[in-house]
Amino acid sequence: MEFKDFFSTLKNRISNGYDVPEFFRALFAMITDVPEENWGTKLDPVTQKIKDDSLRSYAKRGIPKKFAQQIVYSLSPENYIESLNSRPVEARKLLADDFSSYDAEVTEDNVAEKTAKWFVEIIQTAAGMAPKSELEQQKQYQIAGEMKSKYGTYLLNEVNHFCPFPGCGRSLTKTNAGKAMDSYEISLIDRSKASDLSNLLALCPQCYATYCLDDSPKTCKALLGVKKILESHNHSLALLDDLPLEKGIVGVISRIKKLKETELAEASLDPKELKQKLKPADNFALYSQVSLFVMTYFVRIREIMINLDKRGEIDYEEVQDQMHAIYKRLKKAKKTNMEIFNEIVDKIHRVTLQENTYCQIVVAYFVQSCEVFDAVTE
Ligand SMILES: [Zn+2]
Repeated sequence: MEFKDFFSTLKNRISNGYDVPEFFRALFAMITDVPEENWGTKLDPVTQKIKDDSLRSYAKRGIPKKFAQQIVYSLSPENYIESLNSRPVEARKLLADDFSSYDAEVTEDNVAEKTAKWFVEIIQTAAGMAPKSELEQQKQYQIAGEMKSKYGTYLLNEVNHFCPFPGCGRSLTKTNAGKAMDSYEISLIDRSKASDLSNLLALCPQCYATYCLDDSPKTCKALLGVKKILESHNHSLALLDDLPLEKGIVGVISRIKKLKETELAEASLDPKELKQKLKPADNFALYSQVSLFVMTYFVRIREIMINLDKRGEIDYEEVQDQMHAIYKRLKKAKKTNMEIFNEIVDKIHRVTLQENTYCQIVVAYFVQSCEVFDAVTE
C-alpha cells in the first residue's frame, strides 16, 4: 500500500478535523516515541519543528528514507493498535470498509491490527528494507523456531530477558491474565554465517521482524558489538560463579548507607597512590569515580569493617582474600579495568541486592586497599 492512500484514508476517518500536518504528527506519535526533532529531516530554525509544507509533501509523496530509518527500529504497533481501538466503533467500521479493497477480511475488530501491519511495512519499505516473500519469511521463522527450542533459554538469560537491540530494551517476558510468558525470537546476527551460539541473539518480536528485512552491514555490525559485550559479561559471570563472597558485606553496605554528610566530611582521604593502580589516562571516568568514592568513604568504611570484624559479623581478612581472588580471576581472563570494576560491582549486587552505587563504593574501597587492581610502580 502507498503511504498517501494509507494516510488519506485514516485522515478521512479519525483525524477529528485536524489538518494534514497536525494529523501527520498525531499519526506518527501513535506508532513511534521518537520525537519530531529526531526524525532526521530538516527543522524550521524558529519553531524547531518540521515545516508544515514538508509534512504536506510527505503525506502526498511518501516519507523520506532518512526519516523512516530513524524510526524503523522504534516502532510500537501495539500503541497504534491500542489508540485505534479506542476510537468509536463507527469510525472503525467505516475504516474497515475503506480498506476492504486491500484485504476483504478487514472488520472493525481487526482493522487496528491489519493497518498496524501495513503501517509498519510502509515504514520498513521507505527505510529501504525490501519486503521478503512469504516463503522466505516462513523459512526465517522456521529457523527461529528451531533455534528457540535448542538455545532459547540460554539466549534469553544472556540478554537478561530484555531486548538488547540498541535503543529498544523491551521486556521479553509478558504477563497476560496472571500468566507469564516469553515473547521473543531468535535471530541470526550475520546471515551469511552459520547459526551457532556466537551468531545468535534473542530479540523482541518487533526488532526481530524489522531486522529480518534489514540487510544493512551497519546494523549487523552494531548487533555483533552488542553480542560481544553480552558474551564477555556472561563469561565473567561464569568465571565468578563458584567464588564465594561473605554475606556480611550486606551489613557493611547498610552501614555505609547510614553515614551522614558530616561524618564523611570529617574523615576524607587524599588517594594519591590510586594513580598507581588506575591510570587516569587509561580510563578517566573510572579513575575519577573511584577516586571520589575513596576520598569520601575510605576512612569510614575501614572503621565499619574493623568494627564488624571485632563483633564477629564479618571476617575482614576473608573478605579481603575473596575480593583478591575475584580480581585475580578476572584479570587472568584479560578483562579490562572497567570490566573488572563493573563485574565485581555486579557480583556484590547479586549477593546483597543493594543499590549499584553502594556496591561501587565498596569496590572503590577495595581498590584503595589493594585487593582490586595491582599497583604498578614506574
Ligand atoms: Zn526490541
